[in-house]
Amino acid sequence: AKITEEVLSRTKFYKDFPRPGVSFMDLFSITQDPAYFRKVLDAFKHVIEFEIGRPGEAFNILVGLEARGFVLGPILALEWGLPFAAIRKSGKLPGETVKSSYEKEYGGDVVEIQKGILGPESKVLLIDDLLATGGTLNAAGELVRCCDGAKVAGSACVFEIEGLKGRQKLTMNIASVVMLRD
Ligand code: 5GP
Repeated sequence: AKITEEVLSRTKFYKDFPRPGVSFMDLFSITQDPAYFRKVLDAFKHVIEFEIGRPGEAFNILVGLEARGFVLGPILALEWGLPFAAIRKSGKLPGETVKSSYEKEYGGDVVEIQKGILGPESKVLLIDDLLATGGTLNAAGELVRCCDGAKVAGSACVFEIEGLKGRQKLTMNIASVVMLRD
């Protein structure tokens, strides 16, 4: 509860970014102060272990979503001694990839992961900064499930916008540090 209040009071909100009507929460307000960033990361690790399970057991690889999942994911992966991989928008990863398309508010989008990274032994923890409608994590989950029998262990975000009901849409365990109404 204490960390929720602290994060809410210290996170910068940008009105009408990236488009009118959206209030954007800036993850980089957390990374400016190392002691505070450490505190948020520790809270993130706690809620993941509580909601998803033990690192190395409940999940054995972290997969970050472009772009802010690339800020949080590798830090946790190194601290837990687990591998990290990236899910990116189409056309950005070299070599052969597995793709999954999904619908967004304005038109469709494609996400990909490099072939051969995930297999039947993979138990994936998806990492992003924020859960809104759940469209992004849902697409990432479907992509993982297309990879040679890989499983989704769950997903983890620092922020969750409760009012957008992403949680109801997702068929996976979810860990979040801070819940916001809308
Ligand atoms: P969803 O697909 O759940 O509707 O939206 C989540 C995605 O949009 C995440 O990848 C997240 O990074 C991005 N996003 C949407 N709104 C915000 C916001 O207010 N702040 C940040 N940092 N990311 C957002």
